[in-house]
Parts: sequence; structure tokens; C-alpha cells
Amino acid sequence: MSQPQHDGPNPVGEFDLIRWIRDRTPSAGPTVLGIGDDCALLRPSPGAELVVTTDMLMDGRHFRLDEAGAEAVGRKAMGVNLSDIAAMAARPVAAVVAVALPTRDGRAVAIARDLHAGLTAAAARFGVTLVGGDTNAWDGPLVVAVTVFGETTPRGAVRRSGAKPGDAVFVTGPLGGSLLGRHLSPEPRIAEALALHAAAPLHALIDLSDGLSSDLGHVLDESGGLGAVLDAGAIPVHPDAVALSARDGRSPLDHALSDGEDFELCFTVAPGDADRLAAAPPEPARLYRVGEIVTRPGLWLRQADGSLTRVDPSGFDHLRRPPQGA
Ligand code: ADP
Ligand code: MG
Repeated sequence: MSQPQHDGPNPVGEFDLIRWIRDRTPSAGPTVLGIGDDCALLRPSPGAELVVTTDMLMDGRHFRLDEAGAEAVGRKAMGVNLSDIAAMAARPVAAVVAVALPTRDGRAVAIARDLHAGLTAAAARFGVTLVGGDTNAWDGPLVVAVTVFGETTPRGAVRRSGAKPGDAVFVTGPLGGSLLGRHLSPEPRIAEALALHAAAPLHALIDLSDGLSSDLGHVLDESGGLGAVLDAGAIPVHPDAVALSARDGRSPLDHALSDGEDFELCFTVAPGDADRLAAAPPEPARLYRVGEIVTRPGLWLRQADGSLTRVDPSGFDHLRRPPQGA
């Protein structure tokens, strides 16, 4: 983890802080006008469609500021949004950030600077320019909301709704146990999504934020009420899922199926394309073929002996389950 930058005079007020941010934010790419006016101006590539996503993170719910530090919070806030852009197989171009800084312990400006360092570090890795935002302070916990704009490639966006019976289901990495720390450092699979979509027309695509059973469930629902059979032995289980299993007694596979915030991709493709992708995964994607789409609705787990058991979507739901990162 790199140290946040603390160069330059310490900004004191909101406008000092915005100037400080502005001075550190070069205008680039499709940005016609960045920070400083009432709106930013972006010029998308000719023929591209605009994709937009937003995600809000709250102290005590998605992270703990005292444990994670503001820089990690910034990286996570940008990373989860970039992961959503990856989940459309789009290219991210620009971001805006709205923050509510906590005033209680007099550290609002230090938090803002560290947060900014994390946000821009994550953005820069993917060629994303910060083009605006909103800065507030209050006697409450840190809240940060990021909005990312992207554009489609000539192949177009990949939706959740395109899965077809017979499609193969893939994931791009081992799953489960992100709570042990990975949930703070999402690795948005943008290059992977673009490479995969260029190599074969992906039918349906989603990023795994709530857990495989739940997120694949969204694909099945949006694709007209289809089902999926997952091979129990084919699901890549992260070592963190094994470590967490030793603590809480839930099986590693259960963690892999239902833990959230892996931020890997899950996609479906036609069987012929699946064979081709599996034989030669396009760089830098790692591929795990985990099952297939079927007409019988529901999510099913196939054991080595061929028996099928039904899996209940049990991923993270903010209105049903206690928070993960807190
Ligand atoms: P307005 O009152 O017109 O919304 P602000 O004073 O809120 O303007 O913001 C001035 C400029 O600074 C705008 O371009 C805005 O997008 C940008 N800005 C404000 N806060 C941030 C931030 N935290 N990060 C990046 N840009 C910001
Ligand atoms: Mg404003």
C-alpha cells in the first residue's frame, strides 16, 4: 500500500481544497473541460454509446475509516464503480466524486487529501480522468459517492439479459472470503472484459459484487427466467474462503457461492465460443468454466456423481443482511 501524497501547502477551506484537487488533476482523454466550471464537458468517441454508473460508500457500512484509512476507501470507491463499467464490457473515461467529510475530529482536510490520493490512483491505472465533484462536510461519518462515465466499443455493451440455454458460464477468478481484506482493493476487470468481448460475442455479463449465486441469479432473471447448473468441483475457491471457513464452519464452497465483493466477472457465451476461449483465454483474462445455462429455472449445483441440488441465492443484500465490510 503506497503512502498518500502530502506535498504542497495544506488546504484549509472548501475552495482551497477544490483548488488543491484541481491542481493535481490533469485534463486528458475525452475531457473538453474538467474541474472548475459548473459542469464538465466530455466528448465521447464517434459512434460510441455512453455508459454511466454510480455507487455510494458509507463509513460503518462498506468500510471502517479508522481501520482502512481514507486512501484505501478512495481506491475502493473508484474500484467498485470501474468494476461496473467492466461489467458492461465498456471503457471507462471520466469520473465525478461527491464527498461528505466528517468534521468531528478536525481531520476533514487530511481525510479529503488521502481519499483523493486513493481515488486518483485507482482512476489513473485505467486512464480515467476526474472531471468534477462536490465537497461537503458534516457532523456525521464519511460518505463518498463516485460516478463513472464510459463508452462502448464497436461490439456494443454486454447486458445481463442476453444469456441463452446451452451457454457456458465462466468466472474470471477464485471466489469467496473477500471480507478478509480483498473487499477493500477491488481489481476492476476492464482489460479482461474488453479482451473477452473482442475475442467472442459475450451473451451476458455481470460483475460479482453480491456473490456468485445472487449475481448469476440476476442474469438468469433478466434473461427471461432461465436456470443454471454449476459444477461443484469447477468453482474456483479462493484461499480466503478456506481461511474463513476454518473460522465460521461454513464450507469454502458456500463462501465461494455466496460471499460478496469478489469483483470478478461472470459471463455466458455460446458453447463453441466457450471451447475456443477456454483453450486460449485472451490476455489478461483468467478463465474458469463453472457451468451452463439451462431452461429449467433456478440455480443448481451438480456434484461429481451427477446429482443436482438447488442453491438459494444468498448473496449480500443491504436491506436483508448485516453489512459485510463493517
Ligand atoms: P458549484 O457550486 O457550481 O457546484 P462547486 O464549488 O461545488 O461548484 O465546485 C467547483 C468545481 O470543483 C466544480 O467543477 C466541481 O465539479 C469541482 N469539485 C468540487 N468538489 C470536488 C471534488 N471533491 N473532487 C473533484 N472535483 C470537485
Ligand atoms: Mg457543487
